[in-house]
Formats: sequence, C-alpha cells, structure tokens
Amino acid sequence: DLWKATGAVRFDDVQFAYTADRVILPHFTLDLPAGQTIALVGSTGAGKSTLAKLISRFYDPTQGSVQLDGVDLRDLHPKDLRRAIVMVTQEAYLFSGSVAENIAIGKPEATRDEIRRAATAVGAHDFIEGLPNGYDTDVNKRGGRVSAGQRQLISFARAFLADPAVLILDEATSSLDIPSERLVQEALQTLLADRTAVIIAHRLSTVAIADRVLVMEQGTIIEDGTPDEL
Ligand code: ATP
Ligand code: MG
Repeated sequence: DLWKATGAVRFDDVQFAYTADRVILPHFTLDLPAGQTIALVGSTGAGKSTLAKLISRFYDPTQGSVQLDGVDLRDLHPKDLRRAIVMVTQEAYLFSGSVAENIAIGKPEATRDEIRRAATAVGAHDFIEGLPNGYDTDVNKRGGRVSAGQRQLISFARAFLADPAVLILDEATSSLDIPSERLVQEALQTLLADRTAVIIAHRLSTVAIADRVLVMEQGTIIEDGTPDEL
C-alpha cells in the first residue's frame, strides 16, 4: 500500500549550521499547512535555499526536526519521501535524452498519454509538438534546442507528472521574454493547485498568487502575511 502524504510541513525548533562556527537557522519553528502556496522572499544569504534544502532532505537539521504530516523526514522511507516532496531548481536541468524521457524522469513507468497530459496541463504540449520529432526530440545536456522558458515548462511538466504533495520551487532569476513569462506564470498556477508549495519567489507576479508570503532575514521569518498585507 502506498503512503500518501497530505503535505503539511513543520519545522519543529530546527537548528541548522553548515559549519561549526556559524548557525544559519537558530531555533526555527514554522508550520506550513497542507495545500498552501507560500512565497518565500528575503535578501541574498537570508537562508531561503537552506530552508528549501531542509524540506527536501538535502540536509538534515543539526537539532530539532523537519516533519511531513507529523512524521520526522528521517523516519520516512526514502521512496515515500521522494514521491511526496519534489524540488524544482533554477536551472531546470534537462538530461540528454528525449523530451518525453525528460518529463518522465521521476516516473519512468509513465505512459506516453500521461506524459502528454502533464505537458498539456502546464501549456508545454504545443511547443513540444512543434519540435522536429515532437516528444521524441533529443535535447542535449544543455538543453540547446529549447529556450529557457521552454526548459522551465518541461520541468513543470515533470513536476506535474510526479504529482508530489509538496512542491518546492526556486524561481529562476533569469529574465524570460514576455510571451514565455506569461506561459510560465500560467503553468505555475496549474502546477500549484492541490498541493503544498513553497516558492522562493523573485517575481512580484508570483508573490501575488501566493496564499502567504514569508519574509526571511538572517535565518528568521520577520514577516508572515498575505500578499495584500505585506
Ligand atoms: P540567495 O537569495 O542568494 O539565493 P538564500 O536566501 O538562498 O540566498 P542560502 O543559500 O540559504 O541563502 O544561504 C544562507 C547562508 O548560508 C549564507 O550565509 C550562505 O553563505 C551560507 N551557505 C549556503 N550554502 C552553504 C554551504 N554549502 N556551506 C557553507 N555555507 C553555506
Ligand atoms: Mg538561494
């Protein structure tokens, strides 16, 4: 039987340090209820990516615990953890292989139909069909054949297909052209529905669609409210 998380995340008195001489997160407690879209903002070095990496268990806390549905991430089966929590990074990295393989990377058993549906949901289907070999088009390691915006849409399709309870997204800082920007924003809204999402947001348009905005400075949340309040 597959365990299916609802997606509630809790930082319970977490302390985290990369090196012994410097604590990045001191006594950090935070509740992210299931289903919320959270925009995380703050200046460079504030600890946003560190927070994201603790949720995806890239690192473990030095003290305290990060929990999913009340379960310490360290007590989850790695398979359950990988299925429940997916992180989409800035680089939107593409592997060498076909577009279809790139979308199905976390779910190799996916059928072509499921892959197509995921691509359609995030608005990537049309440009994929326009590639020389459609879904079978090879993208090289650097994603040479596709634009930055298209690369993001492919990574969104990948995340949509994986359908995690918790999605963490480190939004790209690189600017996209206006049409791609609009497509990516629309795709984002589809991708965020029905799951907990933490977005390290660099665009005001992303902050605006969040249920909750957290402002982080020096490893602490200094503001916590709706986009309207902040
Ligand atoms: P940015 O907006 O620039 O991405 P951020 O809010 O994501 O910043 P973090 O990357 O979480 O900030 O970094 C928080 C602090 O931890 C910084 O002082 C940074 O120098 C330090 N840090 C980050 N990664 C490491 C690491 N691997 N080893 C040591 N220190 C690190
Ligand atoms: Mg960062």
